[in-house]
Amino acid sequence: MSAWGRAAESLNPTQRSTLERLAASREERPRFPAEVAIGLRNDLGSRLAPIADRLEEDLFLNKYKLDRVLGCEVRPEDDFEWSAPKARGAVGHKAIELSVMRRDSPHPLELVDDAIGALVAEERSLGEWLGRQDESTIARVRAEANARLVSFLETWPPIEPKWVPVLEGTLIADFDRIRLSGRPDLTLGRAEGEVAGKVIVDFKTGRIHDSHVADLRFYGLVDTLRIGTPPRLLVTSYLDSGQLWVEEVTEGVLIATIDRVVDAAGRLATLTSGERDPEKRPGLGCRWCAIRDACDEGAAFLRAARDEGTLDDEI
Ligand code: SF4
Repeated sequence: MSAWGRAAESLNPTQRSTLERLAASREERPRFPAEVAIGLRNDLGSRLAPIADRLEEDLFLNKYKLDRVLGCEVRPEDDFEWSAPKARGAVGHKAIELSVMRRDSPHPLELVDDAIGALVAEERSLGEWLGRQDESTIARVRAEANARLVSFLETWPPIEPKWVPVLEGTLIADFDRIRLSGRPDLTLGRAEGEVAGKVIVDFKTGRIHDSHVADLRFYGLVDTLRIGTPPRLLVTSYLDSGQLWVEEVTEGVLIATIDRVVDAAGRLATLTSGERDPEKRPGLGCRWCAIRDACDEGAAFLRAARDEGTLDDEI
């Protein structure tokens, strides 16, 4: 029986596979001497310091900003507005949170309704939008959030309190005027001294994408800087297929992530100071770009991707 020790007989094969891939006995877990995190912090700090000196205002780096500045810098910011497809993800995540945190065992739709009720009561952006929608729109959000929740319940074993689950917990690492921040969907486990124990999880739909891997590595780095012991595993859970992408955290992964953060911070600093013009970099993001019809480079990239069959139509 694994350290996470749930009776495997009560799990379906996918749940069992999820459990087996993520569990590890104490002996199997890697040890990272404190010098690893100290070295990473010193390296990152010394490389960010000259960038921070050039900043006109404090720099806040999260996964969206990293993706954006390392992708196409010409792409205009989307005018964000809530819609049923966007709301389903947020409501679904809230319902997953309730399914993990509630001590009783309500049906999935009850959890979805609780999630919608809690968001409306918060009266923040999504809650206000939900409060203005008609019954048909709410029914659509409800159905799609329910599908996401049920996918989670069918592909993950029941989450046990002793696994120390944290949903959408904030991770922060500060470097003078530069703040690195992340909010992974779920973390399980925790370090015991220098022995890694935490598993960081993001839930996705669609196919595996490089950016999903990069997001998790960024979380892994921030958490390492935060507590001094790296997480053990980085996991993307594709809820609609039940598949997991799992990466073991190594010092090499964290060093590579530092390179990416420094690259992004440097680019942002030179961009915001007006030292250079934004660069056009075609990529899969062209699919959602508001100016793609007027962009020859973006159109050419998408044509080539379609011809090669590498264009994934799912988000
Ligand atoms: S279509 Fe692509 S390359 Fe062109 S501006 Fe938009 S994101 Fe950039």
